Amino acid sequence: MARFILLGPPGAGKGTQSVMIAEQYNIPHISTGDILRANVKAETPLGVLAKGYMDRGELVPDSLIMDLVKDRLAEPDCEKGFLFDGFPRTVPQAEALDAILADAGIELDAVIDIRVDEDELLKRMTGRRVCRQCGAPYHIVNMPPKKEGVCDLCGGEVYQRADDTEETVKNRFKVYNEQTLPLTDYYARTGKLVPIESAGGPKDVFEAIIRELEA
Ligand code: ADP
Ligand code: ZN
Repeated sequence: MARFILLGPPGAGKGTQSVMIAEQYNIPHISTGDILRANVKAETPLGVLAKGYMDRGELVPDSLIMDLVKDRLAEPDCEKGFLFDGFPRTVPQAEALDAILADAGIELDAVIDIRVDEDELLKRMTGRRVCRQCGAPYHIVNMPPKKEGVCDLCGGEVYQRADDTEETVKNRFKVYNEQTLPLTDYYARTGKLVPIESAGGPKDVFEAIIRELEA
């Protein structure tokens, strides 16, 4: 059984690591950000409520998140375990999760905490671009399209997502430092925190995580 939480600042590569960890342990990867974005796209009642917060880089209210998480945890694939990515984001969310797990008579195995330098993150994130038509990812420094502003794959417009602009990214860091960073102490007290210094590429970070989890 593997029940994990993945913590880390915006842009730390949590999404990439989550996919690999979930595959390694054969557990569902639960990203509250992905679930919210799917709801925004489908214009569900939750999506309509969440969109404004997300575009401003603010957190969606805890009550909405907890409803979503409770529903997701009730699905049968979570019997095998789970990996939360982007959840919990606040101490009240962590406390609410503890109550849900205690009710179900289960416990977390580890809280993986990826650490990365903030200046490095800002550079990574504000350089991010995406094709409006096919969704192909680009980066103005690391992976620019051949012709500026035009997708190599489909000729579509390459643009910057509203939540990747410098202003919004700075706000996401502020929100992270104020509301999410205290979770590091919260979980350190449970003895389940597994700190990982992000060094090297995604594969190096993944190997460091597995090494620590298996230690
Ligand atoms: P990031 O790109 O910073 O890793 P996510 O993809 O996890 O962010 O989430 C994108 C946005 O969705 C957040 O900025 C926030 O508005 C909202 N969100 C996602 N998860 C949560 C959560 N657990 N609590 C509150 N808001 C959330
Ligand atoms: Zn394209």
